Amino acid sequence: MKDLQKLVTMLKTLEDQMTVCMHCGLCQSVCPLFAQTLNEADVARGKICLLGGLSSEMLKDVQGVKERLDNCLMCGSCAANCPSGVSALEIFLKARVILTAYQGLSRTRRMILRGALAHPRLFDRILEIGARSQSFFVSPASELLGTSCSRIMSPFIGKRHFMPLADVPFHRQQGSLDTPAGESGLKAAFYYGCLTDKIYPDIGNAVLKVLRYHGVGVWMPHEQACCGIPALSSGDLPSFKELVRANLKAFGDRDFDALVTPCATCTSTIREFWPMFAGEFSEDEAAAIKILAAKTTDISAFLVDSGLVSDKSVEPAVNSATITYHDPCHLKKSLKISAQPRRLLQNIPSCRFVEMNEADSCCGSGGSFNLLHYETSAAIGMRKRENIVASGAATVATSCPACMMQMTDMLSRRGDTVAVRHVIEAYAAALS
Ligand code: SF4
Ligand code: SF4
Repeated sequence: MKDLQKLVTMLKTLEDQMTVCMHCGLCQSVCPLFAQTLNEADVARGKICLLGGLSSEMLKDVQGVKERLDNCLMCGSCAANCPSGVSALEIFLKARVILTAYQGLSRTRRMILRGALAHPRLFDRILEIGARSQSFFVSPASELLGTSCSRIMSPFIGKRHFMPLADVPFHRQQGSLDTPAGESGLKAAFYYGCLTDKIYPDIGNAVLKVLRYHGVGVWMPHEQACCGIPALSSGDLPSFKELVRANLKAFGDRDFDALVTPCATCTSTIREFWPMFAGEFSEDEAAAIKILAAKTTDISAFLVDSGLVSDKSVEPAVNSATITYHDPCHLKKSLKISAQPRRLLQNIPSCRFVEMNEADSCCGSGGSFNLLHYETSAAIGMRKRENIVASGAATVATSCPACMMQMTDMLSRRGDTVAVRHVIEAYAAALS
């Protein structure tokens, strides 16, 4: 009964937010999904109309509504361009939570989210076992890109060219770190996120090298957990709350100037989605969430905004290799961070920076969207791949490991010879 009342209250709040939409349809022109499907139900306006009848229909076709809602990259293009300021992502996430609370999680999602992800150390161990056994199931695809493909027919992997799990995850390589502030007088907490930890440990090592180079002290607890976005995107509020609590425990009582991450998705989750759901926590927890969220930023933004990296470009050396940049949606559209990563790339003397066309168009990854709708995800990704190749750059850099995986898949499947790197890896490699 208590839960039902809570659901009704949440629905009411959602309805209030949805009335802001004036159905102008401007979100159609910026939705990467609509550009592929031309289906009005895929765009923000269509989803909001669908949700409009939610409480009165309570709930005739929960599964149908859920499927429509899941058909979304959560890229935030609609919200970033909405003249009425509709918080589309907040509406979609809260609606997913309501629908899941009403209907329950599927057995598979329950097993993955509640059985594994919500228990960070168990999740670590499962993936470490996966790393040791993966060679039986995969074979190399591209040496330059470091991709693999499946040896056997697998409905989960399909045609994908993917990055294998790291032999030794980042948290095992580094453990916990606590170093004092150096020359800069600054101390940063380092939240590395699941993909850096388990697939791209070199990104984590690059962040540490750069912070050390600029005299920034580091607090990096190895007890940190997933930021919770896979759980929240699935509407699984209990798992999301467990993960937020684990991170509050790991980072909460320390003093630091900023919490930095190399993952655009983690950055926007901690900065925007944690406070969005702060009302679901105790007063003390909600206060800690707001403090941590306000301190959270992308690693490039931290370096440039705190004056550690010059805001002027350096002249590239003759014959330097070209590098281009892809804007992750969660960084540019959600947090308006786009100049700082470019500034880092323009401070590498051995690189000549070139812009690609549609640098801020979605790569099509969308987290679980890629798993559920691979063909559509790949069609959007191939347009990104065409723009990368057309730029003539030898390397494409970005600020999100999830975008790296998507671009790597597209480039590898087409046999392209364009390297994919995180901005911080490219910048760290140029430091002595
Ligand atoms: S979400 Fe915004 S852009 Fe889309 S129809 Fe509503 S008001 Fe217009
Ligand atoms: S979040 Fe992205 S994919 Fe989803 S409706 Fe908005 S623009 Fe379309």
